Amino acid sequence: MPEYNQREPLSIPGLADYHCHCDYSIDATGSIDEYCIAALRRGLVEICFTTHFDSNPNSLGDADQIRINSELQPSIPENLAPYVEDVRQADDTYHSKGLSVKLGLEFGWYKGCEEGVARLREMYTFDYMLCGIHEVGNACFACRECFEACFSSLSVEEVVDKYTRQVVTAAESGVFDTIAHLDYIKKYGTEFFGPKLEELFAKAAKEQIFPALVKSGTALEVNTSGIRHGIDNYYPSIRIVNEARRAGVEIRHLGSDAHVPWQIGLDFDAAASLVSSSMPAWDED
Ligand SMILES: [Zn+2]
Ligand SMILES: [Zn+2]
Repeated sequence: MPEYNQREPLSIPGLADYHCHCDYSIDATGSIDEYCIAALRRGLVEICFTTHFDSNPNSLGDADQIRINSELQPSIPENLAPYVEDVRQADDTYHSKGLSVKLGLEFGWYKGCEEGVARLREMYTFDYMLCGIHEVGNACFACRECFEACFSSLSVEEVVDKYTRQVVTAAESGVFDTIAHLDYIKKYGTEFFGPKLEELFAKAAKEQIFPALVKSGTALEVNTSGIRHGIDNYYPSIRIVNEARRAGVEIRHLGSDAHVPWQIGLDFDAAASLVSSSMPAWDED
């Protein structure tokens, strides 16, 4: 698979990337500075860092850590302080160079997490709270090493149903700005269960998820990382983005979900038309 280390400027100026992971995330490389430099090179005007914060006390996995100065530390709210400070510092440094730097988080959803999110929002002034759903029933479905253990005891109907209920609960909680990569379950789910998974999910999204998103004012992102995952579509797929918009769901931001600096803005020239708020303001006349 190609590496997608893109260094050339995007052809559409004025875009923002609202989902990227600097090296505070344990699965990412590249400092905040390296991301900001890459963003400027690609012609982005805004970047929002969304480091992972995974704190499910019942998780069967071991993602609940933050990397600080090359050392792994537990994911507890206090340990986010250096990340918050570094992102704010980057905004001071890069704002005058034409790049606005926002503070976000990709909070790993789990049942009962609402209080934890509220506590973080009290401690720090986040610009953006993304809800990342990476587990079904406390087992990770998002990594190649994990998905079989997660899926093997469940039918495709059960997986879609459980995942859908989690998204609905996350939306109804009202504590998140945006649900990250809405149909992420397809990343390995389609490989495991076949095309039926996406059919069932599209139906569940329409009937259950969109109404919950509209009611709570929770948005969806267009996450372009599916392109580098080789699935040849976004998360969610273009069809679901269009159906969501028709149902009144706000499609708020483009996110590359970059885990190395040169993945930022991936495929944004093609994806920009799906997200009206990402487009530069054109003169009317
Ligand atoms: Zn994620
Ligand atoms: Zn992410």
